[in-house]
Amino acid sequence: MNTNKIPHVVIIGAGFAGLETARGLAKYPVRITLIDKNNHHLFQPLLYQVAIAGLLPSQIAQPVRTIFRKQKNLAFQMGEVISVDFAEKFVKLKGSVIAYDYLVISAGARTNFFGFDALERHGLQIKDIETAVQTRNHLLSMFEQASHEADEAKRKAMLTFVIVGGGPTGVETAGALSELINHVMRKDFPRLNLSDAQVILLEAGPSLINAYPEELRESTFGLLKKKKVDIRLNTKMADFNGQRVTLEDGTFIETRTLIWTAGAKAAEIIDSLGVEQAGMGRVRVAPSLQLAQFPDAFVIGDAAFVVNGNGQPLPMLSTVAIQQGKAAAKNIRRMVEGKQPLPFHYKDPGLLATVGRNAAVARIFGISFSGFIAWVIWVFLHIYRIIGFRNRIIVMFNWAWDYFFYDNQVRLITKE
Ligand SMILES: Cc1cc2nc3c(=O)[nH]c(=O)nc-3n(C[C@H](O)[C@H](O)[C@H](O)COP(=O)(O)OP(=O)(O)OC[C@H]3O[C@@H](n4cnc5c(N)ncnc54)[C@H](O)[C@@H]3O)c2cc1C
Repeated sequence: MNTNKIPHVVIIGAGFAGLETARGLAKYPVRITLIDKNNHHLFQPLLYQVAIAGLLPSQIAQPVRTIFRKQKNLAFQMGEVISVDFAEKFVKLKGSVIAYDYLVISAGARTNFFGFDALERHGLQIKDIETAVQTRNHLLSMFEQASHEADEAKRKAMLTFVIVGGGPTGVETAGALSELINHVMRKDFPRLNLSDAQVILLEAGPSLINAYPEELRESTFGLLKKKKVDIRLNTKMADFNGQRVTLEDGTFIETRTLIWTAGAKAAEIIDSLGVEQAGMGRVRVAPSLQLAQFPDAFVIGDAAFVVNGNGQPLPMLSTVAIQQGKAAAKNIRRMVEGKQPLPFHYKDPGLLATVGRNAAVARIFGISFSGFIAWVIWVFLHIYRIIGFRNRIIVMFNWAWDYFFYDNQVRLITKE
């Protein structure tokens, strides 16, 4: 067989969008090269569970080669793409180049510290396995250090945990961390006075999860309050030096921990493409998800700036990335067949956010749920999306154990 005649599709990024594009072309006569700088696909919506020592990294990540073992038209290459030549149609990795007929850029997003160097140096983030494990190690170390700290003020600072950003990730992390303290650490550290411990959630705006309907914002506030999270709305962080957070009104919070969840921007590679960028550095694409100037190239997922019917940019969500992955695969199939690509339309499957072990808020089919029912919906939607049978059973077992016994066994401090 002359493989040169078979169109070559190169996909950058094995996240939700990249995987879905590759799957959408599985039974189609194309050659696919899927590139990722990591050898695994990461289920980011559960990353905060790794950070709060609820799950192990291996429970929310799976090697890309395992996922595509049976897909014969796909080759995986681990490597970091450093540039793209759209005119000559090749991508450049460290040490090699790969030519393409069709290119899909699904490189995702990274944390945005808004140029705040001190924050980047001293703050924690939850974006990939490394940063989640770093956060876990730091949190657990704080309890260890506090357990033998004689000075009361220092001990209190070690047990004060500040989370910045009242979006879904900040809310999930705050709720889960508060539960870890009140249900698990109390047992692990019986001699430590954990009434000194507090979780503080700072939000610059007037409400939590502000993209959600009002009743869900209010339910979230109430559920987090019940979990003893100190929620401070309309509160802006001005600085963090590793020892104290300075607020914009000049007051301080003595703490060793700041978890930053208040910003995201498109992946690093996007800045080097030389194409038009919009909000959060995302690439402005045509309604068909193609680059207007280079129609053989698509940008999808978190890296793409696409507006919905109301003129609002689509959020950085796995549901958007998955639907765009499917749409890009379909449009490539159409182009190979000499047909026009079709515009992308997002079908909103509803909104979900967890607020802890048995509490969540959800809006599905226009109906709002909160509390335990929403949590059950959340568990099953997420479980369903986790790749691989083995993972699904293990994660479910862990949750069930955790839920009934308020205990988890992954509180390891490891070397980074
Ligand atoms: C903590 C957290 C919680 C979240 N919770 C939710 C949630 O509850 N619900 C929800 O719907 N969404 C949630 N999201 C958002 C969701 O995870 C993203 O919208 C989704 O992952 C975007 O998919 P993607 O394919 O565009 O990018 P990603 O899934 O980020 O994948 C991008 C891939 O590209 C690779 N890559 C990047 N640059 C290069 C390069 N130069 N060369 C090679 N490979 C590269 C990366 O390694 C990565 O594997 C959450 C995100 C985070 C961080």
